[in-house]
Amino acid sequence: MAHEVTFIPGDGTGPELAEATRRVLEATGVAFDWDVQQAGIDEYERSGNPFPPATLDSLKRTKVGIKGPTTTPVGSGFRSVNVLLRTELDLYACVRPCKAYAGVRTRFPETDLVIIRENTEDLYVGIEFERGTPQNARLRELLAELGATVREDAGISIKPISVFGSERIVEFAFDYAERNGRRKVTAVHKANIMKFSDGLFLEVARQVAARHPEIQFEDRIVDNLCNQLVTRPQEYEVLVLPNLYGDIVSDLCAGMVGGLGVAGGANIGTHAAVFEATHGSAPKYKGLNKMNPTALMLSGVYLLADLGEQDAADQLERAIAGVIRRGEKVTYDLKPNRDDPTAVGTSEFADAVIEELNA
Ligand code: NAD
Repeated sequence: MAHEVTFIPGDGTGPELAEATRRVLEATGVAFDWDVQQAGIDEYERSGNPFPPATLDSLKRTKVGIKGPTTTPVGSGFRSVNVLLRTELDLYACVRPCKAYAGVRTRFPETDLVIIRENTEDLYVGIEFERGTPQNARLRELLAELGATVREDAGISIKPISVFGSERIVEFAFDYAERNGRRKVTAVHKANIMKFSDGLFLEVARQVAARHPEIQFEDRIVDNLCNQLVTRPQEYEVLVLPNLYGDIVSDLCAGMVGGLGVAGGANIGTHAAVFEATHGSAPKYKGLNKMNPTALMLSGVYLLADLGEQDAADQLERAIAGVIRRGEKVTYDLKPNRDDPTAVGTSEFADAVIEELNA
């Protein structure tokens, strides 16, 4: 039976990348029943709403979606579709595998790790008190009563990290390790400085680890982790991080394995999962058939695995890896020289992956 999946092309270069991805997913032979839904700036210009209720309803029904990137204009009062999605569907785990495929230019060819980022807590919840406001003054007064002095000209952001949020993300990381043949989970924190937020995260991580004795567990302070990632990346398998460190370390690792063009991912919750690339909509390249679709295609590989189509997932990953390894029919970002005239476009890259799948 065909898998019903919500398909959100997105905006900017999103629709080109999504179309290339749809073609390679269908070429695996797996049957899909796509429910095409809109989100992003084009939809905002059309209907005044960047994230229409029909899109959310579809995801709630199908419980699984694949999404092209969507633009968030700066300073427009336009809420990020991605933030809305994560909040509305409680997509609490951001999963970003970072693997250096042969043929990609990298100084870290041994890298093969997975980042599990907590998506709902930490400094990202938006509890902020602007400098010079009455709310800020009241908070500083309260803090002074509690024995904490904050300078009058300070802006204040609050960092909540809960037992609930930490436990479910660390459980998710161990579960991921078990299901994917990984042997070790590393919890990342700065518990030496932030004892009651990162310290709590670490304490909960240790308790969860004790329930999974078959998986090795260790922890790293985030600055030390960054140093070790660029010296001994092969020592890491699954990293579990609170929201902010997860955001930063994800980009570091994407750079280590060849850049945004090859960094796929997923946002997963209890009731739904949305698969999407790490990168944004790169609007200046819209309609040029130039961007690398690998990141969204790899997100498609993770989608196939999530749907229980592991053989198709393995085949598609091998086909993408084959095209990258040969290095002929690849986009400009995967060529040694970015002006290389032999670079192919988004759509031709998809053709090459389909050829490889059929070979
Ligand atoms: P971006 O990721 O869109 O692009 C930055 C640069 O990275 C591009 O100019 C390009 O040189 C390179 N790049 C990105 N993807 C590539 C690919 N597939 N192949 C080759 N090169 C690639 O980042 P940005 O310009 O900061 O953001 C543009 C918009 O996207 C913003 O509105 C931002 O809010 C949004 N955004 C959306 C998502 C999402 O939908 N999940 C994620 C990040 C950013």
